[in-house]
Amino acid sequence: MDANLPAAIGFLAEVRQDSARPPEPVFAARAFRARWHERTADRSLHTVLLHFGAPDEAYAREAGRTLVFAGELYNRDELLGLLPGRVLPGSDAALVIALFDVYGIHAFRLLNGRFAALLADRERAVAATDHAGSMPLYVSVAPGQVLAATEAKALRGAAPRGRSFPQGRPFPQGRPVRRRPGICQVPAGSVLDIQVSTGLCVAHRTWTPPAARRILPEDEAVDTVRRALERAVRSRTGPGTPLVVLSGGIDSSAVAALAAHRSAGPIDTVSMGTDQADEFAQARVVARHIGSVHQEITVPTGDLLRGLPHAVWAAECTDPDVIEYLLPLTALYLRLGDTRNDGDPGGDGDTGGDRGTARRILTGYGADIPLGGMHRESRLAQLDTAVCHDMDTFDGLNEMTPTLSAMAGHWSTHPYWDRDVLDVLVSLEAGLKRRHGRDKWVLRAALSDALPHEVVVRPKLGVHEGSGTTSSFSRLLTDAGIPKGFVRQAKRLVVEEIYDQVVVEGRHPDEVALDAVVELISERAAHHPHPIPR
Ligand code: ATP
Ligand code: MG
Repeated sequence: MDANLPAAIGFLAEVRQDSARPPEPVFAARAFRARWHERTADRSLHTVLLHFGAPDEAYAREAGRTLVFAGELYNRDELLGLLPGRVLPGSDAALVIALFDVYGIHAFRLLNGRFAALLADRERAVAATDHAGSMPLYVSVAPGQVLAATEAKALRGAAPRGRSFPQGRPFPQGRPVRRRPGICQVPAGSVLDIQVSTGLCVAHRTWTPPAARRILPEDEAVDTVRRALERAVRSRTGPGTPLVVLSGGIDSSAVAALAAHRSAGPIDTVSMGTDQADEFAQARVVARHIGSVHQEITVPTGDLLRGLPHAVWAAECTDPDVIEYLLPLTALYLRLGDTRNDGDPGGDGDTGGDRGTARRILTGYGADIPLGGMHRESRLAQLDTAVCHDMDTFDGLNEMTPTLSAMAGHWSTHPYWDRDVLDVLVSLEAGLKRRHGRDKWVLRAALSDALPHEVVVRPKLGVHEGSGTTSSFSRLLTDAGIPKGFVRQAKRLVVEEIYDQVVVEGRHPDEVALDAVVELISERAAHHPHPIPR
């Protein structure tokens, strides 16, 4: 296995009382596939695992339990300290199952990671997300049958349709999946405790965004942020050379600078731009300063927009704003180099081979949510209201999903959404976020010795703006005859139509004709000035 990558990046697992096998699932994430089938007196467990060469590391058995674990942990050392006298577990999966033996479902409250997990424990199935639900997890539950998968589309054809649960959900907190009755998304920071025979589910929260605000002297706040971010970057860089997707904005520049500090040799950085817009000059300043091996990738706007079906397929999201943020990154990941070495494209169970070019990628994604950076708001009450709102509503958008890069065979991780970084950033009082006339002040101050002054004070430019994605998408629609005042709504309809094709109906994104989708929405706009989304 490549020690630079997590053992697994996705799965479908089914616990059932009979021993029927689920059909072969479709995933957008690309990796080797391994399959297991185990039968005990109480139940059978089928697993299809997406892995990087060592599937056993993502599959742990102890005391009659089996754990399937995709993703990775960032506080292994702390966790190992909780298991004195034990043979120390090697893999993250083994560590979690050992903790479960001691703490039960409370083990999931201890974890700082980017993961999704399914544990089969005799008559019980336990499904868990990380604190931020950064690896999406979907379940379908019926008496005698529990399915869990890291992509909703993987449950297509496997999940029983339209169960008779109240509001179509097996538990009240479950997020329904558009046009897929019977499937719901496990909320961020949750563990579902499911009785397999009855399908009875109880959800427990393992993390919630802090609601209280800490008042700290400037120096202490700056120092706390710096240390938390350093730790998060350190725990994510792995033994190889990390690659940072770099815009030259403060968020990704901070990650790149901290990754470079702890790296023996130069790190890799890459920037994307389009024929319409780029931030190449800004990124170059940072690359030069930290001495990275830097690459620029220019994507023609037409190609960028033709990636819309891929972004929706990977993120399984219908929010057009989120898709606009994710589209340039999708284009970037898909061009990082051909990593197509699946070993098992036909699904024959091969688990060997070498992925070779799969990269560990660090991003600066998500810093604006706890810091209120998107809001360009100087009034502190309104800024904190925006932070509260964004922290209350991020769940289910799948902005952080690793599938975006996994579609191109890579593993991505976001230091700002480390559990401990998030706890620090969210809880700082708003006056530390907006201060001395600057947004994200505390972050800028925390990096002032590590980056050139012009980078530290550079105003925010969103990835959708800096790449011209928002304006190009708008132009695609107005060129098709959609009135300017309807563009926002039309973007939503385009994204929903694509979602229906690739997630609900199971089409491959290469088969989606974007022009035909735009034409369809444009016709609807012509006939109904205020069309109602279906
Ligand atoms: P700021 O928010 O201050 O602009 P930023 O550019 O680093 O900082 P975002 O604009 O929010 O952050 O973008 C989110 C993340 O997406 C970035 O941190 C970076 O990792 C990645 N990213 C954004 N634009 C590009 C780009 N042009 N090339 C490569 N990666 C990018
Ligand atoms: Mg930016």
